[in-house]
Amino acid sequence: MDLDQSVQRGTSGKKHKPVRLPLDVQEEIDCLYEFVPEVEQHFEVIDKIGEGTFSSVFLARLKHYPELDQLFALKHIIPTSHPSRIEGELRCLLEIGGCDNVMGVELCIRNRDHVVIVMQYFPHEKFQDYILHMSLQEVHDYIKNLLIALRRVHMFDIIHRDVKPSNFLCDRKTKRYALVDFGLAHKATVCKATENTAARTGTSTPVSTSARKGILTQVEVNNAGTPESQNNFKVAKETPSSDSKTRQYTPPVSNSLFARRVKSPRRMLLAKRALLAKDKEDDILSQRKSSSHRYQPTACQCYGKPQICSLCSARSNQNAPRAGTPGFRSPEVLIKCPEQSTAVDIWSAGVIFLSLLSGRYPFFRANDDLTALAQIISTFGSEAVKNAAKACGKNMICNPQQPCLDIRTMCMKLRTAPMSKQSSNKKKMTAEAEASWRQIPDSAFDLLSRLLDLNPFTRISAEEALKHQFFTDMESAR
Ligand code: ADP
Ligand code: MG
Ligand code: ZN
Repeated sequence: MDLDQSVQRGTSGKKHKPVRLPLDVQEEIDCLYEFVPEVEQHFEVIDKIGEGTFSSVFLARLKHYPELDQLFALKHIIPTSHPSRIEGELRCLLEIGGCDNVMGVELCIRNRDHVVIVMQYFPHEKFQDYILHMSLQEVHDYIKNLLIALRRVHMFDIIHRDVKPSNFLCDRKTKRYALVDFGLAHKATVCKATENTAARTGTSTPVSTSARKGILTQVEVNNAGTPESQNNFKVAKETPSSDSKTRQYTPPVSNSLFARRVKSPRRMLLAKRALLAKDKEDDILSQRKSSSHRYQPTACQCYGKPQICSLCSARSNQNAPRAGTPGFRSPEVLIKCPEQSTAVDIWSAGVIFLSLLSGRYPFFRANDDLTALAQIISTFGSEAVKNAAKACGKNMICNPQQPCLDIRTMCMKLRTAPMSKQSSNKKKMTAEAEASWRQIPDSAFDLLSRLLDLNPFTRISAEEALKHQFFTDMESAR
């Protein structure tokens, strides 16, 4: 592989040359060298390739093996992250990753509170830059490979919780894919597989356990054969060790230094806020694990009415895990259903499929949960959302009623409607790709509706989805 050809800076398409980097990027690289000297001992950091709320990602090659073509992605995790969270991310990469389109880990380097995860570099383009160039066949490949990755993750009863295009990398040239970013991954609080088996054997209706019993109950997750029951994982270098959970977490020493060196105060603020939200969520989860609380029998006056009685206003807020990105959050996350399964990720995959079929990204653009829910209601109709809420043990009142849209018609309208901003992109679609969109099989929209099943208890699993007619149809048409 020729380095100069494979590495591009940003999205400009400029080939990487060993020329001078922008000053701020060079400064960040110098910071990285300073915080984790081992990085500089072994790697030559070439560029910065990504930045999220919790990390910066750099491109690097090995210093002492210049003949090696392999490039690496170095994820420098922000030092305010809790060690147990970093441990969780590493565990996922190590035990789940490395096959089935899930990113693996090569090495982990730690110096004090700074952790750098070393992965193989995965060349990819930005979703926004290729979504409108894709043929239907490519959309099929993309969704199939995403479902393969999710099937793998869900086998471990892990919810990724942040499935979105920037975390599912696609190399269009080589048709390779990689699910990255286990920073928000969590053990499912309810085991979808068990629910499914129960539903199939007729011992359970596809309704949440709390809805069935009318109370909030503690759901035990079977740990057998899952990552947490295997403690013999190894990481090539020093890492926050597996006993970090038992160790007291001391506030990072060099935080203030980090704050001083990281130029953007907004980024620090965002990261802190996100961390606080995530910590709160972890507390809720651990509380739920340690105590099984019930709702007291009440004489509520407001049930089903658009008002709140004094008894209800005295209740504490219900909390449920809600990590992720608003536009990709499933209805059960948005309505704070406390029992969440891997179905959460399937919804997000459905939202990506909806983007691909409609040519609109992001499809749902929301800054908060209520806006996100309102957008879901205006797409799928209030009745359907109400029924799904009921399955999660929630009574939803919606005024005015919203009809359900025909998704196929909506997608076709959006796909053909002119777009001022992206229209220049549109021209790049080949005639062949253009033609592929003239005959979309019905099975595509059937799969879409199964992924975007509002009810998490009947939503299709990744494994079932891979057997869907859509894949048979597309593969026989090849
Ligand atoms: P965050 O938790 O901060 O979102 P991610 O793990 O999602 O961090 O990485 C941020 C970005 O860096 C990704 O969206 C992707 O563009 C890039 N990236 C991450 N891992 C790799 C990799 N192994 N190869 C190439 N690019 C990567
Ligand atoms: Mg990310
Ligand atoms: Zn009430």
